[in-house]
Amino acid sequence: ATPTAIMVGTGLGAKRGVLFKNAMALETSARIEVVVVDKTGTLTKGEPEVTDVITDGFGEDELLRLVAAVERESEHPLAEAIVRRAADLDGLRAARFENVPGHGAIAEVDGRRVVVGNRRLLERESVELGPLASRRDELAATGRTAVLAAIDGVPAGVIGIADAPRETSVAAVQALHDLGVEVVMLTGDNHATAQRIAAQLGIDTVIAEVLPGDKAAKVAELQSSGRRVAMVGDGVNDAPALAQADLGIAIGAGTDVAIETADVVLMRSDPLDVPIALRIGRGTLRKMR
Ligand code: ADP
Ligand code: MG
Repeated sequence: ATPTAIMVGTGLGAKRGVLFKNAMALETSARIEVVVVDKTGTLTKGEPEVTDVITDGFGEDELLRLVAAVERESEHPLAEAIVRRAADLDGLRAARFENVPGHGAIAEVDGRRVVVGNRRLLERESVELGPLASRRDELAATGRTAVLAAIDGVPAGVIGIADAPRETSVAAVQALHDLGVEVVMLTGDNHATAQRIAAQLGIDTVIAEVLPGDKAAKVAELQSSGRRVAMVGDGVNDAPALAQADLGIAIGAGTDVAIETADVVLMRSDPLDVPIALRIGRGTLRKMR
């Protein structure tokens, strides 16, 4: 690599807020064949909002108060959405809070055991969703995340949460395809929700319901075919996958851990800067030959 080509590439990136941390990152960008993208906060805005509160045997406010008491103790973005939705209701205190990564949270509220999370968590707790299952499926089919609630072992409600795609996500996927790069969505969210959003964005490969600790292993699996893989993410749970990838790309609005781990940082948090980073890399490599 000629120092001049590296300097030009780094400068071009910096102008757009695409920060290559070193020469190696620039060179690897040119050779990427697969881009793995986290869903929440990367392809979507990461501003989840409660859209539906469906209950069974509980009043809407009653359920929201119990669930919000648990979620107030959690730092998950979905939890924050539920807490905001319940902001006008009298708060209840949660005891014995337990965070279950990749699943949800559990606590005691008002002497009752409240379980909030995904299908896997309810299965772990041996709760059968019953008639609420079809409501959950309807929500997922529209691309919303269904948060399930059980009170004292009984299914009590489904909370629908929407997180809109970023405005440029469709164009970013298209531009990556135009570069001949495969795009893969990687998410902890459920299959149906992830599939729906992937379809909206033109992404054909989806790896969903991945536990936080398993994202890096999924990246390694893709690399085992011999292809060079980039990972784009924003969260704490993306950091190991960013490190595992041949090229880690962090969203500037993301967590410090993601930004520190990555090889490239997108200061504008714009998915369109992913194909731009790869193009700058390719341009640099051409000048080097
Ligand atoms: P992601 O943020 O990519 O969806 P996570 O691994 O953090 O991945 O969570 C996976 C899934 O577990 C979420 O989509 C959600 O269904 C469920 N979940 C995790 N934490 C919570 C929580 N505090 N409240 C409700 N659901 C949760
Ligand atoms: Mg994320």
